[in-house]
Amino acid sequence: MKKTTQLYEGKAKKVFLTDESNLVIQEFKDDATAFNNKKKGTIADKGVVNNAISCKLFTLLESEGIHTHLVEKLSDRDMLCRHLDIIKVEVVVRNIAAGSLVKRYGFAEGTVLAKPIVELYLKDDDLDDPLMNESHAVALGIATLEELEVLKNRAEAINAVLKKFFADRKLKLVDFKLEFGRHNGEILLGDEISPDTCRLWDLETNEKLDKDRFRFDLGGVEDAYSEVQRRVLELD
Ligand code: UDP
Repeated sequence: MKKTTQLYEGKAKKVFLTDESNLVIQEFKDDATAFNNKKKGTIADKGVVNNAISCKLFTLLESEGIHTHLVEKLSDRDMLCRHLDIIKVEVVVRNIAAGSLVKRYGFAEGTVLAKPIVELYLKDDDLDDPLMNESHAVALGIATLEELEVLKNRAEAINAVLKKFFADRKLKLVDFKLEFGRHNGEILLGDEISPDTCRLWDLETNEKLDKDRFRFDLGGVEDAYSEVQRRVLELD
C-alpha cells in the first residue's frame, strides 16, 4: 500500500490518500500541541508510541464487536485505515473529574463520577471546540439525532471495554476523546486513542501518565508515554 497525495496535516498526524480509493494512511507525528495550539512542542517518539497504542486498542475494540477505521498497522508510524467522512463532533467520556470538567462545573479533581458523563464538542479549532448539545449539532447540519444516539451509545460501550482493559494494567481511565466517521453507510470509530487523547492515572499512586505532563510542564513526558505503551502491550 503506497501513500499518494497528502489529504490533511493535523496537530499530531498526517493523513494520506493511497492507491486504494477507500483507504488512507494515518502517519503519527512527534509534534504535540495543547490549549488549542497555544502551546507547541515535540515529544520524542510519540508518533511511534501512539501508533502502537492506538493499533492495539482499536484491535481490542474490533474483537469486542466495535467497528473502527483500523485495517492494519503498516509500520512504526503508519496505520492503514478506512477513509471516513469525519463527523465534526468530539465525543468526550469521563469517569473521573479532571480538566475542563473541574474548571467548568467545580468538581474536585479526582472525584469518581457516579455514572460516566458523555459530552459533545464541536470540532472546530477556530471556535475553540465549544461544548454543545444534540440540538446544536443538528442545527449545524453536522449529524442527525439518530447518528448522535449511535455516537453516544458507541462511546459508552467503548468506555466499558477500555476501562476494564486499563484497570487490568493498573491504570485508571479518567477521561478520553473519540471521533467517528461515516464509511459505506456505517459509522466507524476513527482518529486515535492514546495518551494524547486520554487521561490515564496510575491505579495506586494517581501519577498522571498522559498529555497533562506536557500541558502543565510536569516533566517525564516521554517516560509516561512509554510506560503506558509498556502496560498496554505487556500481555501480548
Ligand atoms: N481531548 C482531546 N482533544 C481535544 C480536547 C480534549 O483529546 O481537543 C481529550 C483530553 O486529552 C482529555 C479529554 O479529552 O482526555 C477531556 O478533555 P477536557 O475537556 O478536560 O479538555 P482539555 O482542557 O484537557 O483540553
